[in-house]
Amino acid sequence: MRPNFFNLIFIACVVVLVTACFCSSGREDEKPSPQSQANRIDDVDTDTDSSTAAKKKDEGDFIVEHSEVGTPRYIEIDRQVKSEKLLEKAADKLNRALVLPTDIHLRTKSCNQINAFYDSGDQSVTMCYELMEHFYKTFKSVGHDDAKAYQKMNDAVRFVFLHEIGHALIDIYKLPVAGNEEDAADRCSAYVNLKELGDEGVRAVFAAADAFAIESKQSEGQKKNLADEHLLQEQRFYNSLCMIYGSNPSKYSNILTEGYLPKERAVRCQTEFTRTVDSWISLLGPWRKS
Ligand SMILES: [Zn+2]
Repeated sequence: MRPNFFNLIFIACVVVLVTACFCSSGREDEKPSPQSQANRIDDVDTDTDSSTAAKKKDEGDFIVEHSEVGTPRYIEIDRQVKSEKLLEKAADKLNRALVLPTDIHLRTKSCNQINAFYDSGDQSVTMCYELMEHFYKTFKSVGHDDAKAYQKMNDAVRFVFLHEIGHALIDIYKLPVAGNEEDAADRCSAYVNLKELGDEGVRAVFAAADAFAIESKQSEGQKKNLADEHLLQEQRFYNSLCMIYGSNPSKYSNILTEGYLPKERAVRCQTEFTRTVDSWISLLGPWRKS
């Protein structure tokens, strides 16, 4: 699969709606990625402390809640997301894999803002139709037809959704974050997508990289971006490429050979990816179902 972002980053584009990030940057209500087959998130845990895991009581589930769509222009977007069963599949996989101390609600709804966020107040992840529409318009703006734009919208939504799941896991498990939580959430999403979800997961990280590249063109030179808790879109673009390349350098060698990721960064991406995966596997180990 040749990634479309190779073309996109050179396309000067105009997009109707601009957002600085895929996750709320004004989130007063929000607190606030080669392992062996045996380390898959949904495998029986045989190499971690099973006595620790046994002490964790499973007192919750990931619960999907789709709101009624009241805005006509969101009807097709809602239909696309529901037909993909993105949230449902994720909830099922996560419920089979992890012990939860409380329910976590996974919602799609209209929020009057282009956003996705985790709310620690009621342990919920919300994916706003406005953000989905933003992705659709973004991919349409660079020449994709409807079907492709919706596919890439779903892929990008998958990346963002798992980013928010990262925030949720950090909060409910009180996981240590020795660094920037937004970057940790990005790497959680890259880990799950690239290690657990096969081709559709790889598509998700490529779609996110596409969107980061397009958005970076729009927000160039805005000083306030430097103060944002998220990394710059350019950095998130290169980090996404590094995670993909690092997950399988021979398979994704064109990322390096065609110059989309500088050699100086690329040579460290396999280690970077492995460390990301190892970190998340270690952090989630005590909470895995056995
Ligand atoms: Zn975030």
